[in-house]
Amino acid sequence: MTFIQVSCNDCGNETTIFARSTTVIACNVCSRTLTSPSSGRAKLIGCKVVETLE
Ligand SMILES: [Zn+2]
Repeated sequence: MTFIQVSCNDCGNETTIFARSTTVIACNVCSRTLTSPSSGRAKLIGCKVVETLE
């Protein structure tokens, strides 16, 4: 399993998400949509990767 630590583009809050998440994940601070599911992996749409955690 791979997790990725991401930083919200709007507020900078960092959160750890499952790289193959198949659900929409929203920032828990500002509610911006961070990822949307795409072909079995999370597509980052509102955040950037800080670190990949294997
Ligand atoms: Zn945010």
